[in-house]
Parts: sequence; structure tokens; C-alpha cells
Amino acid sequence: MTTLNLANVSLEYPDGGTTLKALDAVNLSVRRGEFLSLVGPSGSGKSSLLAVAATLVKPTAGLVVIDGQDVASLKEAERTALRRDKVGIIFQQPNLLPALTAVEQLLIREHLRGKRVHEERGKAAEMLDVVGLSGVAHKRPHQLSGGQRQRVNIARALMGSPTVLLVDEPTAALDHERSESIVRLLRQVTDEFQTATVMVTHDTEFLPLTDAVATMRDGRISRALVPSAQSN
Ligand code: ADP
Ligand code: ADP
Repeated sequence: MTTLNLANVSLEYPDGGTTLKALDAVNLSVRRGEFLSLVGPSGSGKSSLLAVAATLVKPTAGLVVIDGQDVASLKEAERTALRRDKVGIIFQQPNLLPALTAVEQLLIREHLRGKRVHEERGKAAEMLDVVGLSGVAHKRPHQLSGGQRQRVNIARALMGSPTVLLVDEPTAALDHERSESIVRLLRQVTDEFQTATVMVTHDTEFLPLTDAVATMRDGRISRALVPSAQSN
């Protein structure tokens, strides 16, 4: 099932007397369990695409459909609920709160979303286990490595059981070995939770871990299968 669908999506910004097309008639479909990498030069529209897919930015034209719901047809509160319940966003910088332990980073997210913290403890422990951090659940960010902090970030995004996972350069601040283990973890998470995962990346060496590569240039997108994953 296609979970994330962008049809003819354009995003324009005023630019002096003319308009700049950050996205120019983009079509993109990502199925559950599919891991797509998004590459392209700086300024080509990758962040714009993630922002539109995250329902954070409204496109100038075109259709954004998440789990069968046309985002434009939703009221503001419904859109917020859709984002909370269906979309996981993982930025390059984990943005953890310095005073909180790993498990508390997950729990405060649920608290801020109106959930009862004591009911979420089991799930938080489970998600820390998924990302391999059970042993450091009670450590604070400064006691964790960069890779571990990014794993907390991923576990936190999984707390809402998202069907769409949007990941912006998750390895930009990490060395090679840690980068590879983070991309492998995202592959595992995509398989295990059947998310439709889109990862913006500059690390072309990890593209074979993903199912397909979309390339952006001047707001336009082209999509291709990774040769080794064509059996999918
Ligand atoms: P990428 O993520 O590939 O670097 P972006 O999506 O950030 O590309 O940017 C695409 C284009 O849109 C660029 O030309 C950028 O300057 C422009 N752009 C992005 N955000 C804004 C904004 N808020 N206002 C005006 N122009 C913007
Ligand atoms: P506003 O008039 O509320 O300031 P904006 O043009 O700034 O609207 O767009 C941002 C709003 O559009 C956000 O509230 C966001 O949730 C919503 N939005 C995001 N994606 C879409 C979409 N595909 N269709 C309609 N609205 C959307």
C-alpha cells in the first residue's frame, strides 16, 4: 500500500520579481516497508520535499496524501493529529534535552502529546531495545556517543508508531562506522515496522542499503531502483 503520495507537488517562493520553484511538479510514491534515499545538490529541494511530506509546509500546488488522507482536506487540528500519529521526523541533530535520560527523552515526547507517561514506559523500553540502547536507558546525552544520541532520536520518533518516517541527513555528524550502523538501523526499522521511509543523504556508499534512490535537481525529481534491490 502506498502510504506517502505526492502528486504534481510544487512549492514556490517569491524571488525578487519572479518566483523560485523549490519543488516543481514532483511526483513521488513510497510504500510501507520501502526505504527511499533522496539525493541531490544543495538547494535542489530535498528539505522542501521533506517539509511538505511532513505536512509542515503547504505546497503551492499539488496533492499530498498520507495513508489515504488528502492533507489539504483536513482541518488544522486534524492535520496536527495526522502528523502526530502517522509521521516520524528525524533531523540531523538529535535535539535531546540535556537534563533528561535516554528513556525520559522518549517519555517526555509522549507527555507533550497528552499521553500518560506511566502507560508509555513499556513501549519506551521496547523502542530503546530496538535501537540497541537498553543498557544506557538512564544515561544523559553528554554520557552518550554521537551515534547513541542519534539512536535515541530514532527511538523517540518510533514512539508514535509512524507509518511515514522522514529522515534528514542522519549521518552528517557521524564518522563512517557509526554512519553505516545508523543506516542499517533505519533499514531494520523500515522492515520491522513497515514504515515508508525517506532519507535525505549525501553518503552515496550507503545507497545499496535502501530500495530506491530519488534524485532532485532544481526542484524536479527522478526516481530509480537501486540495482541490487530490484528483486523487490
Ligand atoms: P536542499 O534541501 O536540497 O538543499 P531546499 O529545499 O532547502 O534544498 O531549497 C530549495 C530551494 O528553495 C533553494 O533555492 C532555496 O534557496 C529555496 N528556499 C528554501 N526555503 C526557502 C524559504 N523559506 N524562502 C525562500 N526560498 C527558500
Ligand atoms: P497558514 O495560512 O495557516 O499560515 P501556510 O500557507 O503557512 O498556512 O501553510 C502552513 C499550514 O499548511 C500548516 O498549518 C500545515 O499544517 C498546512 N499544510 C501542510 N501541508 C498541507 C497540504 N498538503 N495541504 C494543505 N495544507 C497543508
